[in-house]
Amino acid sequence: MMKTRDRSEELGHFIRNNKEGNKEDGKSLLRDYITEEELRACTSCNACVQECPVSINPLDIILQMRRHLVMEESSAPQEWNMMFSNIENNMAPRKFSPDDRDAWVQS
Ligand code: SF4
Repeated sequence: MMKTRDRSEELGHFIRNNKEGNKEDGKSLLRDYITEEELRACTSCNACVQECPVSINPLDIILQMRRHLVMEESSAPQEWNMMFSNIENNMAPRKFSPDDRDAWVQS
């Protein structure tokens, strides 16, 4: 949240002081302030949301940035990519076809 605040303040200063009307300063919250490693370190336990005394939802920012990484940049750990592929093809995180789900019963 502190890095998000810092980025918002910096961008606000840039826009106010920029005479040419540019709204982009070439930096982004992702990577310039918050690393992918930091985003993936969150276990989405929701404790920060529940305990925040001023009702800020840090998890929402984390999940949106993670979603951006996966949906827009196809950037995810190899294990996640395998799981995504299995869900897309087999409608389940496992690598087996839906037709073979009960095959273990016969063996
Ligand atoms: S949900 Fe909040 S408290 Fe839980 S791991 Fe993520 S950032 Fe930390």
